[in-house]
Amino acid sequence: MIDKQEIDLLIVGAGPVGCTIAERAAQVKGWKSLIIDKREHIAGNCHDCINSHGQLVHKYGPHYFRTSYEDVFRYLSKFTSWIPGNYIVKTSVKNKLYPIPINLSTLEKYFDQELDEDTALKLLHSLRVHKENPKNSEEFILSRLGKELYEDFYLGYTLKQWDIHPKDLDPSVCGRVPIRLNRDESYVNATHQVMPKDGFTKMFSRMIESKNIFFKGNTNFEDLKKTIIPKIATVYTGPVDEYFNYCLGKLPWRSLQFEWKTYKEKLVQPCVQINYPNDHKYTRSVEIKHVTKQNINTSTVSYEYPQSVGDPYYPVPQPTSTELYLKYKQLVEETSHKDKVYFVGRLAEYTYINTDEAIKRGLDAFQKIANSNGID
Ligand SMILES: Cc1cc2nc3c(=O)[nH]c(=O)nc-3n(C[C@H](O)[C@H](O)[C@H](O)COP(=O)(O)OP(=O)(O)OC[C@H]3O[C@@H](n4cnc5c(N)ncnc54)[C@H](O)[C@@H]3O)c2cc1C
Repeated sequence: MIDKQEIDLLIVGAGPVGCTIAERAAQVKGWKSLIIDKREHIAGNCHDCINSHGQLVHKYGPHYFRTSYEDVFRYLSKFTSWIPGNYIVKTSVKNKLYPIPINLSTLEKYFDQELDEDTALKLLHSLRVHKENPKNSEEFILSRLGKELYEDFYLGYTLKQWDIHPKDLDPSVCGRVPIRLNRDESYVNATHQVMPKDGFTKMFSRMIESKNIFFKGNTNFEDLKKTIIPKIATVYTGPVDEYFNYCLGKLPWRSLQFEWKTYKEKLVQPCVQINYPNDHKYTRSVEIKHVTKQNINTSTVSYEYPQSVGDPYYPVPQPTSTELYLKYKQLVEETSHKDKVYFVGRLAEYTYINTDEAIKRGLDAFQKIANSNGID
């Protein structure tokens, strides 16, 4: 174990941000980093592992890696080779499966008629409930797709996911999923839609394989913040309100509970993810084997139940949460300089970001730390 006096960076959280900063610090500057995590493992929410049935599973929900940042893709490619992403998602409505995001094939199947871009546009135009400036998610979807599609595809899913009516959510919440008038059925839009060949945990473990990087799991920042004073800085990727002892109140998060079932079949579902807006208490079932391509005779499926308690997964997208976060951000600005703490990542910045964005923020934060120390 590293001598306390020799630690250049204390990194709280072994997720994508923490691993990226430690790797850059070791490689570019030769700095010594101690990474700690509450959990026993690395890779943060991207953690994947082999379960008791020999299946490679994504412990904290499916992670479909994609990026249009060439620098992020180049950087990660040093630690992994890739396999194609193949992210196909369907939604179950009245016992039929429809491609998601909504596209020409979805509309054709739902309305049982042949369509092209022009006729689909005309159809949607006739269904739309005109709203000049949609003020919430309900108005946003009604103004694009009309009542039937809104009720079948969006309303139930949003209620389960957030426990908030779309009327009370910003237009961007339901507007996040694109609506396409072509036959592109891929779940995401990005130049690279790929999975790390040996999994995320392997990729991150190669990243922090260095004599200058030490990892200590099952360790909470709270327990050593007074005893370890790093020479250069602390990088904090945990929840921002926790850092400040919730002095302004608790930031709300939506969490998930996972139910896992292993089947004695090679594959159970026709695609990696099925959404259930209207049936069941779970929002989606995920058979990650469709993208990991693991060659094994059984298959594990996870079922996701949204809940308000538990690990923080998604910041609650309401103005009151943003207001509270902005107050914490002010404390961050006062503290960062004084105590040399950098707050980076989804928990520290109270934001939903994809993995590529987390890596990007890690790379940028490292540059900032390096520059502020005037070394080179
Ligand atoms: C359900 C779900 C599905 C997702 N799907 C995708 C996807 O399909 N594609 C994609 O690109 N991205 C996806 N993401 C996003 C991805 O998980 C994040 O972008 C990424 O994990 C963020 O990295 P991070 O380092 O900021 O945070 P995290 O990965 O959360 O890492 C932070 C780490 O800090 C640790 N920590 C917190 N507080 C403390 C403390 N006090 N002391 C010690 N350790 C602490 C935590 O245990 C955690 O391991 C998904 C996220 C969720 C929640």
